[in-house]
Order: sequence, then C-alpha cells, then structure tokens
Amino acid sequence: MEPSHPPAFQGLPIPDPAAAIRMPEPPEDFRSGFVALIGRPNVGKSTLLNQLVGEKVAITSPVAQTTRNRLRAILTTPTAQLVLLDTPGIHKPHHLLGERLVQSARGAIGEVDVVLLLVDGSEPAGRGDGFIVELLRQRQVPVHVALNKNDLVDPDQAGALAQSYRDLADWPLHPVSALQGDGTAELVEALAADLPLGPHLYPADAVSDQPEELLMAELIREQVLSHTREEVPHSVAVSIDRVVDDGPRTAILATVLVERASQKGILIGKGGSMLRTIGQGARLQMEKVFSGPVYLELFIKVVPGWRRSAARLAELGYRGD
Ligand code: GDP
Ligand code: MG
Repeated sequence: MEPSHPPAFQGLPIPDPAAAIRMPEPPEDFRSGFVALIGRPNVGKSTLLNQLVGEKVAITSPVAQTTRNRLRAILTTPTAQLVLLDTPGIHKPHHLLGERLVQSARGAIGEVDVVLLLVDGSEPAGRGDGFIVELLRQRQVPVHVALNKNDLVDPDQAGALAQSYRDLADWPLHPVSALQGDGTAELVEALAADLPLGPHLYPADAVSDQPEELLMAELIREQVLSHTREEVPHSVAVSIDRVVDDGPRTAILATVLVERASQKGILIGKGGSMLRTIGQGARLQMEKVFSGPVYLELFIKVVPGWRRSAARLAELGYRGD
C-alpha cells in the first residue's frame, strides 16, 4: 500500500525504488555500521576525522545541536562503510550530567555498533575517564580505544602510558597519531572488523559530493528513530531518490529501507499515520535546514535480511529487537 505519487511528480519519470537505491552491490563479506566517536575536548577528534576523510568531512549540519547522535563522517573502504557519529556531551564528568543527559548518552551508545573512545595517549589515564568507562561497560557494545598523539610519546614511556589505559578496561588499544596519520589505517580496520555484515548504508561516494542529500537522509532516519524506538532498529537506511526544485519549494522523494514486513507495517502505521508523522517531522526539519518549503514523499521498502544476521547479533551480545 504505497502512496501514489503527488501532483508534483506528474510527468516526471517515477523512480523504480530498487534502482533508486543507489547502493552498489557490495562484496559478500562487506561490513557496515555506526561508530560512536567519543572523546574529551582536545584529544584530537577533529584532527582524526580530517585525517580519515580529509576534506570530505563537509557536513556541518544545523542538526548538530538537536540530535544526540550527530553524523560526523562517512568512511567507505573497499570492504566496509563506517558511519561516524558523535554523541555531544557524553564525556562530561558525572556531577555535570543530569539524569536526562545520562539517559540520552546511554541511548546514544545503545544505537551504535562500535564505540571509538579517543584519548590523549601522551597523558596517563585520569580520573575523568572513569565515568565514561563505567557508562560504556554497562552497554554490550564493542569498544576500541585510540591512544592519540602517539607522536608525542617517548618510546620509554609508551608501555606505562598504555598500561594506565589498560587498567581502565579490557578494550583493544590502538596507538595513533591523528596529526601524522600513523596507525589510523589499522584503527579503521579494527573498527570495521567489529561491524556487522551488511551493505552500504549510504552511497559509497556520499560525503564527497552529496552533502545535502546525506543530510536529508539523516533527517528522515532521525525521525524514524525518534518515533519508533526499539521496534525498528537503527539499521534502517534512507535513500534520497529524487530532488526536484519545484518553484519556491523543494520536492523530495525518498525510500526508507527496512528488513522486515513487520517493520514496514510499523513505519506506515494505522492508516498511514506513522508515515505521516515521520514525513512531517522530517519535512519541518528540512524546511529549517533549507530555509524554504519542502514537499516530502516517503516510501518504505522491505529488503529481507539486508542488514545483519541473527548469528552475528548474538555474537555481539545484542538482545533481539
Ligand atoms: P578535539 O577537540 O578532540 O576535536 O581536538 P582537535 O582535533 O581540535 O585537536 C586538539 C589539539 O591537539 C590540536 O592542537 C591538534 O593539532 C592537536 N593534535 C590532535 N591530534 C594530534 C596528534 O596526533 N599529535 C599531536 N602532536 N597533536 C595532535
Ligand atoms: Mg574538535
């Protein structure tokens, strides 16, 4: 029961939803997923992102302050796609965190496949790291620790410094220099290995030349998440199929990809009510972002098992959704 196309699209070629999802057929062992980047100010988050994706980190969206998971960068390698998110406010000392912020931080961590904790490895672990470690320990999410600024570390001290972080938790440690690029390729490889098997979540060239479409997709995904909670996992993908500059307004056709018919049912809702809610929420955000009226038409497409196998889930310690 997909909605029919609105007048705005009459006379235009109607996209075939399958063809419209511009995600290349990935190799069978391709992995994809969400990586939360966590780190205190000045540990080198921005430097690392720039090192990893260079100028491609073009997305500085106005969504930034309103979301608990902010899209920072998309890294596509021949074997994996990592969607890097940051979780604002998550690395604050306990006494500064209100109950709601803690809840939000927990939720944010719960929505990702892997957490990358970036620390300044030229300094020993401090008491401030305890809070975030505690928070992460409560989640059953794989955590990797990048010991940044390795270029500043005296080789004689390296062992003791690393040990101070090893004492915090039993997570893989990766010495890197975000500034010089040392160790970053190995870091990406290690993160990718902990992602579930799955195809591209975004077009392979997403961040480089389609920042606006990516942002649109993220705004839709955000609405899906905020209105459905656990019934629909964070693994929905959104494809922006068509953007038409229709006079004063922008008309957008988009497809939300889910794994199961039941999820499609949830997203459509009674008499299409959920789809309307999601669409309207996303449209309002888009109108803010693009400073003008937006017409948004959403399709839901089921692609069974496209994302992750039950076995892999169990292996990662996730409960069923
Ligand atoms: P953020 O606040 O976590 O985003 O940190 P930034 O990326 O802004 O980096 C903070 C400072 O640390 C800047 O002066 C960077 O140049 C410096 N920095 C970041 N990574 C490295 C590194 O690997 N080695 C050295 N020596 N300095 C770094
Ligand atoms: Mg920064």
